[in-house]
Amino acid sequence: MPTELLGLLEECLDRGSRELGLNLGREKFAAFRDYYEILVEENKKFNLTSITGEKEVAVKHFLDSLTCLRLLDQGGAFVIDLGTGAGFPGVPVKICRPEMDLLLVDSAKKKVQFVSDLIERLGLERAEARWDRAETMGSSSEYREKADIVVSRAVAPMNVLAELCLPLVVPGGVFLAMKGPGSAEEFDSAGRAIELLGGRVERAERMRLPIIPEERILYLIRKISPTPAGYPRRPGIPAKRPIV
Ligand code: SAH
Repeated sequence: MPTELLGLLEECLDRGSRELGLNLGREKFAAFRDYYEILVEENKKFNLTSITGEKEVAVKHFLDSLTCLRLLDQGGAFVIDLGTGAGFPGVPVKICRPEMDLLLVDSAKKKVQFVSDLIERLGLERAEARWDRAETMGSSSEYREKADIVVSRAVAPMNVLAELCLPLVVPGGVFLAMKGPGSAEEFDSAGRAIELLGGRVERAERMRLPIIPEERILYLIRKISPTPAGYPRRPGIPAKRPIV
């Protein structure tokens, strides 16, 4: 597609995805364009995001979500996006890796309604939205230690997030936390929680977003032993009384 025919969203995706070392095809651009239009349209009803410009959505939602592909190369895995909000990072990742089984979870009903509608309108297969809390799922036989990958962006501080996410990960699988540049201190104080819940930090990768000068840190945590009984604690307790 000649560059002059691309909209701003597509131009940013084209340039930014190449900076991330990803090769997005033209049909992927179309899916992101549809996602953008649906997001902006539904935002009026649901108040999903304060970011609505084409460049901003391309960089801060779509490309930011795709940064996690640098650390995740497994195809066909069962992936949970915990606290997905308007679909981030799960839906952009699914557009680029259609072979995965994706479960998008949020405790806010209206967000789950939006994501469910989005999945249908984008025609995504093997993707499902679920209205639930991480604590409930992590204690249920259906979901406890079932996911190969749990990914989460902007949901809770690291020690809280570890209790929400690690119980869902199968031993041998990974939990990927997507954080901003100020997360180093928060991360340092989460060491005990991560270890207690069966995790071990494998990588912490600092990276710059494409196009705009903002930093992110991706933490890849391997589940090396089962989460002990008693975790996660009851809904709300992980945030109210974080493991320190
Ligand atoms: N990941 C999205 C949304 C971040 S906002 C993004 O990066 O844009 C955090 C989301 O996590 C909210 O939608 C909130 O409803 C959800 N959330 C917070 N605690 C949760 C829990 N315990 N279980 C499930 N979802 C939770």
